[in-house]
Amino acid sequence: MTDHALPTDWDFDATAARRDRYYAASLTRFTPFRDPIVFRKGQGQYLWDAHGRKYTDMLGMNVCISVGHSHPRVVAAAMEQAQTLTHCTTMFYHPTPAHLAEELAATMPPGHDWVVHLTNSGAEAIDLAMTMARTYTGNLDLLALRTAYHGPTAAAQSITGIAGWRHPGMPGNVAFVPEPNQYRGIFGPGTQPYLDEIDRTIASATPGQVAGIVVESVQGYGGIIEMPPGYMSGAAERVRAAGGLYIADEVQSGFGRTGAHFWGFEADAVVPDIVVMAKGLGNGFPIGAVVAKKHVAAPMAERFMFHTYGANPTSAAAARSVLAILRDEGLQDNAHTVGGAFLERLHDLKDKHAIIGDVRGTGLMLAIEMVSDRDAKTPDNDATTEVFEASREQGIILSKSGPFQSCLRMVPPLCLSLEDVDHVVKGLDVACQKAADRIGR
Ligand code: PMP
Repeated sequence: MTDHALPTDWDFDATAARRDRYYAASLTRFTPFRDPIVFRKGQGQYLWDAHGRKYTDMLGMNVCISVGHSHPRVVAAAMEQAQTLTHCTTMFYHPTPAHLAEELAATMPPGHDWVVHLTNSGAEAIDLAMTMARTYTGNLDLLALRTAYHGPTAAAQSITGIAGWRHPGMPGNVAFVPEPNQYRGIFGPGTQPYLDEIDRTIASATPGQVAGIVVESVQGYGGIIEMPPGYMSGAAERVRAAGGLYIADEVQSGFGRTGAHFWGFEADAVVPDIVVMAKGLGNGFPIGAVVAKKHVAAPMAERFMFHTYGANPTSAAAARSVLAILRDEGLQDNAHTVGGAFLERLHDLKDKHAIIGDVRGTGLMLAIEMVSDRDAKTPDNDATTEVFEASREQGIILSKSGPFQSCLRMVPPLCLSLEDVDHVVKGLDVACQKAADRIGR
């Protein structure tokens, strides 16, 4: 089978009629492109649509594809497990999730005992982390960042800052603090004013009953917002002084994606009390996890906590192979090198195109932010949409994100190569020019 060959032995109905029927009869609406794409095949960092057209997947199928689409080792591991015993509910011991739990614990900072609980998704893991922090501390209030996204379940929505992403009727006991966005944060660049605001919020909004703070080590949907130096450790210090825990959401930023570190929180001198992970762990297989310090998790053992598929051996087998591939193929180092080169090239693009207001990120977690006025930093949704569409014409899949949907997020599989960077930068160059022409700038 060549790169472009597509499987023909199954019913692949890419017609608009079936798609429209599906949308009419489900809650699924998310078709980001004006002219929707139907993907049919993935391999490595590439996708092919139903017409056989090839794309570079700079979205990593929503940050899930860490080691490459349909990686043969992941497929083989999952196949072998599925053929032997597809599912073994968490009531029974199975060695595959047990191995995975040990391997995940081993990625955590040394000097602590870690407890691992496997879930099916990031939001479930976030829910559990929230319950765990409230149970351990006996407090109810959680702090979260305004432009955070933590998932679609009720509890995860309750700590998701952007109003449009959170139903107003979600559970309460949450106070939001401003995100330390170094480009457009309300206190400008720096760390201290954002930490001072945590102190003020604890004193005013949650006196005496802080259960913890939840922080994405690099915000994903928020538009790739790196926590500035000292923010994570400073936040942990302040919240702990008030009796709460530090919870790191590594759903997007984990597994080597930030390049310099395996976990995003390792960029600062902080050891979280609870770490939440998903997405890249399964390379597309649904799996998440909460890894918590043993004493923090202990009171939860008294409670009923059971995810039917949580320790599903097929997903766990896939995840084990992902951890092995990340190591064997040196993908964190690759993210560091290729991401570093990519970032430099994006800065060159910014010098050339006035519609790019900011370039940021680390490793293979990068973004450009589109503006209509560089000095005023006015978010430009039209330019973002046009670059997004024009990039697709160049064979590049991006993702719109950020509170103003003015950021184009780039979170590809970690096997992206320097040749891919060259291709993507050239494509983005054309796309930015086309977008500027289309919106008359
Ligand atoms: N946390 C972060 C940072 C996320 O980006 C997401 C999902 N995009 C979640 C949690 C929720 O994960 P899931 O969609 O697997 O429930």
